[in-house]
Amino acid sequence: MFEKILIANRGEIALRIQRACRAMGIKTVTVYSEADSEAKYVKLADESVCIGPAPVAQSYLNIPAIISAAEVTDAEAIHPGYGFLSENADFAERVEKSGFVFIGPRPETIRLMGDKVSAKNAMKAAGVPCVPGSDGALPENTDAIKKVVKEIGYPVIIKAAGGGGGRGMRVVHTEAALPNAVIVTRNEAQAAFGNPVVYAEKYLENPRHIEFQLLIDEQGNAVHLGERDCSLQRRHQKILEEAPASGISEALRKKIGERCAEACRQIKYRGVGTFEFLFENNEFYFIEMNTRLQVEHPVTEAVTGIDLVQAQINVAAGKALPFKQKDIEIKGHAIECRVNAEDAYKLTPSAGRITQYHAPGGPGVRVDTHVYHNYMVPPYYDSMIGKIITYGDTREQAIARMRIALSETVVQGIKTNIPLHLDLLSDATFLNGQFSIHYLEHKLALHNQKADN
Ligand code: ADP
Repeated sequence: MFEKILIANRGEIALRIQRACRAMGIKTVTVYSEADSEAKYVKLADESVCIGPAPVAQSYLNIPAIISAAEVTDAEAIHPGYGFLSENADFAERVEKSGFVFIGPRPETIRLMGDKVSAKNAMKAAGVPCVPGSDGALPENTDAIKKVVKEIGYPVIIKAAGGGGGRGMRVVHTEAALPNAVIVTRNEAQAAFGNPVVYAEKYLENPRHIEFQLLIDEQGNAVHLGERDCSLQRRHQKILEEAPASGISEALRKKIGERCAEACRQIKYRGVGTFEFLFENNEFYFIEMNTRLQVEHPVTEAVTGIDLVQAQINVAAGKALPFKQKDIEIKGHAIECRVNAEDAYKLTPSAGRITQYHAPGGPGVRVDTHVYHNYMVPPYYDSMIGKIITYGDTREQAIARMRIALSETVVQGIKTNIPLHLDLLSDATFLNGQFSIHYLEHKLALHNQKADN
């Protein structure tokens, strides 16, 4: 096992990884930007290294600074967390070439799955159901594009092969609008991702977002840990997730989960990974794979009893998974609310000092956060300041516990989205489990309309 791991991230996930390391008797190195120098989790690490000023390009995305931090501290492995460099194949390669273990998949796997066209092709070949669409990149010629899209059938969504973060996508309803939409998306894709390749997919009108968690060791044992419903999104970003997803039968879970596991064996995947699907009319359609730990991993931990971060570290150290698919049992129900420092309905960020802080507790309540009384939320980073996860025997119990947990939580000095979560937790559509990826946006629009009148 490793003696020392460097954590190339910040905030709640840096603390989460640090906790896993401590539980395993592994020393930790935390890297931090000047904006995070006072944070308690930084001081809690065995060692910490400043890697640059606040802007991410100069610190958390600064590959040479992170590698030299690993060198000077004699760390053996690097955990990238999520976001930042976690899905950067060049970073993974640099880490390995510098003699450290990258806690994640092989660089070539990250590269394969990071290009959505090659990812879809690989998944199709492995028997994973995909959204119907163009076989690969759209052609150059306008008539040829029209022909491809006509076969898919309108409406379609034009997507950038190199896209991410909900950017580089455009819905097209008519042939007349198609040529221009392709040109604009290509230009955007080139500017944002340095890759002009675009492809077309059938646009699903009212799907849910359901994703499967996979875990694979170097020895080729691949297991799925069931699914999560992440349909509640604003600006294509998730805010409330749950496991399991309402209304998914055991047989369907098994079928899709095993397809994903088989795909992982075929591409020689290692570590944790997530297959994201759109789900409509009881059918799953693969959209992309995330080759890293997800923000919402705790709901899966709650219903399976498996510590995903410890599992990642064990796999990276070459250990075989201590269980097989038949040993995995999905038990109970878990919900996660992402607590963001932002106006609950207008979504404007709200950085600043937390003047009062009180965390919830009690049976089935988990709080993953790096913040505390008097913590200064810096304006430079993602607005998420923590996650509250509740667990219960049933969905109703998990929801009831979440309501109590949120009502106990005190965060003053900044705005948070806790009022929106409380609103959702008593919303009839949420309670009956029948919400699509558009539901939260509709709800926000309705609220803001009323507030403006
Ligand atoms: P990104 O990598 O930018 O997150 P995804 O491919 O995961 O992009 O898509 C992000 C979101 O866009 C999905 O969760 C869904 O809300 C919407 N979306 C993507 N593809 C489709 C589609 N074919 N039909 C309908 N909505 C889609």
